[in-house]
Parts: sequence; C-alpha cells; structure tokens
Amino acid sequence: MTVGILGAGQLGRMLALAGYPLGLDFLFLDKEAGTPAAQLAPSLVGSFTDPALLDELARRSSVVTVDWENVPLAALQHIEAHTRIAPPLAALATAQDRLHEKALFKALRIPTNAHAAVDSLAGLHAAIASIGLPGVLKTRRLGYDGKGQAVLRSPADIETAWDALGGQPLLYEQFVPFDYEVSLIGVRRPGGQFASYPLNRNLHRNGVLQLTRAPWKAPLIEAAARRHVKRVMDHFGYVGVLTIEFFVRRGQLIANEMAPRVHNSGHWTIEGAVTSQFENHLRAILDWPLGQTQAKGHSAMINLLGQMPDTASLLAQPGVFLHDYGKQPRPGRKLGHLTVTESTARQRDLRANALLRRIGSPTL
Ligand code: AMP
Repeated sequence: MTVGILGAGQLGRMLALAGYPLGLDFLFLDKEAGTPAAQLAPSLVGSFTDPALLDELARRSSVVTVDWENVPLAALQHIEAHTRIAPPLAALATAQDRLHEKALFKALRIPTNAHAAVDSLAGLHAAIASIGLPGVLKTRRLGYDGKGQAVLRSPADIETAWDALGGQPLLYEQFVPFDYEVSLIGVRRPGGQFASYPLNRNLHRNGVLQLTRAPWKAPLIEAAARRHVKRVMDHFGYVGVLTIEFFVRRGQLIANEMAPRVHNSGHWTIEGAVTSQFENHLRAILDWPLGQTQAKGHSAMINLLGQMPDTASLLAQPGVFLHDYGKQPRPGRKLGHLTVTESTARQRDLRANALLRRIGSPTL
C-alpha cells in the first residue's frame, strides 16, 4: 500500500522510516529534487499546483498526507477529488493563516493572547493602541521558525517592523512574558479514537526549537492541554497527528499556534515512546489501531542547526541517537537532531546539558 506525501522534508523522511517496517510504500511530491525524503523514497518533482503531478500522486496513493501544512488549498482539493487525504482540508486551511488559527482558538474557548489583523500602517497603530506594547508582528501566512515576525518593544520599533513585513496580511499580537513553552501532540482516528503523548517542554532560541524535554511532569497543565488538543481535533473530525504549542504563564496555558502534522517537538518519540508520532500518524490515516503513546523514560531531543557537528564525537556518547536529514548546511537550518533517553528527569537534564555544550550551544 502506498502513502502519498506532499512535501519531502525531514518530517516526510521520518514518516517513511516509520512506515517501511509496517510494509508501507511511499511516494512524495516536492518542488525540489534531492530532498531528505527523496533520498530514500520515490519522489515526483515539480510544482504543487501541477495537475498532472497531483493526478499521478493521487492515482498511485491509497491515502495522501502532508509533510508541510502550506501546500496550496487548490492542490489539496485536487487530490481530495481523486483519493483520500488526511488531515482534513479545513484543518490545513485554518493552520495556513495565523488569524484563522486564533479565531478557532477563541471559538473553541482555548485561551490565546490578544491579537488583531493588520493590513496597513494605520492598522498597526490602531492594533498597538488597543493591545499595547510589547507585541509581536507576524505574517499571517508562511511564517516558520521565527521567520516573518518582529518583536515591537517601543514606538520606535513600529516603522522598522512595518518596513520589514508590511505589504502582506499581518497579525499583531500581545507579547507573552511566558515562564516556559510546552506543546502537546494528539493523534486521532476517523472513528474518533484519540490518544495524546506526554507533555513536551520546549526551549526556542531566536524563534527556532533548540531543545525538547519529555515527559514534562505538570499534570494540571498537561490535562488542560490535552483537552484543548482534543477539542480542536474533534471539531475538525481530525485524522492523523496534530500539535498545539502553548506559552505557560503563572500556571495557565496560552495557545500560540497549531501544526496539523507531525511536529519537531515529537521527534523524541522515535526512541522515547512506545510508538512514535510518525508511526501513529500513519496508523491514524490508514485507520489502523493506534499504538501506545507512553514514554519509555525521560527524553531530551536537541536540534542540530546550521551546521552538522562532529558526529563521531556525539556517537561516542552512550545512548545518543543521531538523525541526519541529509540536508545542505545553511545558517539556522534544521539539519538533524539528537535524542537521549534516561531513567530520571535529572539524569536527562544533565545529559542534555552535556550534549548542548558539546555542540557549542548555550546550556539550560
Ligand atoms: P511562532 O512561529 O509563532 O511559533 O514563534 C516562534 C517562537 O517565538 C515561539 O515559540 C516563542 O518562543 C516566540 N514567540 C512568538 N510569539 C510570541 C509572543 N506573542 N510572545 C512571546 N514570545 C513569542
């Protein structure tokens, strides 16, 4: 059985790596050749809007899913007319626009920060007048890893942020002086069977995820996050894996954004959970029984950004799992990750710090 995947980045690659033992085949479609997933599975190369390529992907696949949530809606609709696609298009469309995402959180009574759509400099001034400073100006579409956003701390920052980002639909939102960040990953089958992974605590640097530690033991926060994720998934009749990222401030969750796909903060589940997020996404979209989501210990996942470190010295450390996505180095680019799993949270944190030091990153 062939699973078609739109986008052939590292998430697609890890989906394929999880699916081969289950007897699945994969076919990717991506704009570029030589992608992380194309290094191990057949890949169609060309535009996401090329009807011939979309037809071929649909014809050869029992089900189609995404490695990237920003595939144009028209392409997703084209696929849906010919074969099954998961997650549902409504969820993908919502996640493509930060304003729609915030509106969804509000409609489902999931706490989120104050925000306003901004389409002009006058609109930005009005948003700041009502929401205040500091705040963050973000592109509504296609932002990732802190790209397409600017923090505004004083009125002097307004013009600079507008010059950098103006001319496209924007969102201005309240800056959240959070205590820390978490994410929760849920998985849902067509009939509604739902499971969630233990809570992740995430550390971002310059808007990019650097470190995830899981399970993060905060039972009340985890229960609330799980309710929020389940509410979003039930709302869409969702199929597959979905992640919501939250700020935590004074013990309360504030939803930041959602990702209708497997997520970087769940990479630790490959070695650190009974069933990985990748395998469970495949099980869900194929309507197979979900695997257990329990953690097998205390894991830390560290992203390798910009340049691969000396991998031999990392592999010389006991129990280090290295994932190299086969990408060309570029400043800030996610090239791979490391996971360690320990028997206690304290031991895990010590290992995480030792590894961060070894790759030249600031420690916890
Ligand atoms: P995003 O692309 O929205 O997930 O933003 C990337 C990271 O930037 C987040 O994980 C936070 O660390 C930081 N960030 C984004 N928005 C805010 C905000 N409103 N207040 C504080 N930090 C933010």
